[in-house]
Amino acid sequence: MSIEWIFDYNWQAAIVYVLVATILVRGGKFLAFKSPELQRMKEWNREEDKAKRANPKYLPIMRANAKVGSAVSLFILLILAPYFFTVESMPVWRYFVDIAIILLIYDFIYYLTHRFVFHHGGPLQKVHGLHHQARDISLIDASYVHPLETFIGLSIYVVSAIATSILMGEVHAAAAAIAFVIWSQVNTIVHTKFNLASFPYKTIDNLTSKHAVHHINMNRGNYSSVTLLFDWMFGTLESK
Ligand SMILES: [Zn+2]
Ligand SMILES: [Zn+2]
Repeated sequence: MSIEWIFDYNWQAAIVYVLVATILVRGGKFLAFKSPELQRMKEWNREEDKAKRANPKYLPIMRANAKVGSAVSLFILLILAPYFFTVESMPVWRYFVDIAIILLIYDFIYYLTHRFVFHHGGPLQKVHGLHHQARDISLIDASYVHPLETFIGLSIYVVSAIATSILMGEVHAAAAAIAFVIWSQVNTIVHTKFNLASFPYKTIDNLTSKHAVHHINMNRGNYSSVTLLFDWMFGTLESK
């Protein structure tokens, strides 16, 4: 077997990945908070988080998660991006399709893991129970997750990106970065206090209230992460 693939190290893919992800997150926040409604939601969450921040249980967990996040990000940049992503230009539809496939594979694996490994007497119910200590969630609770669960979540993204790359014959680094940003931002946003029911914020309101229902009662549904598709398909969609 040839080992030439080892030297086929696409460092440009890692650079494109970091640049796209950084610009999207920074630029997205900058633009989003120009909206007075979203600024109001941000302040509401900041206020709710203040009391929780004073609770000594939050900081060590957040620090441990930051470490896990850095370690997996390093893996993504040094191994995943150079070996599985490309910077060669593609037709525009490919970006959309690849992003959708990464997120759908992610959501499907996460749905099964969340429902059968983290809940219903699954082997990691205690690990996931830490995240569920938060009954009345606000922004900070997005980071109140057991580090093992954070690792599993990030690993599912890595697996989904590799699977899409194999399926489609290499994913563009920018598409993979966009999928990552959508995933991480949706995961954060679903934990926020949010009460804007008008267009265009209605979808966010729907996602946050569905996740809030799941936090209030561990035995109730809404196990998907990014979309509510698999909850809808498998009959575990629950509202207030
Ligand atoms: Zn949660
Ligand atoms: Zn749960």
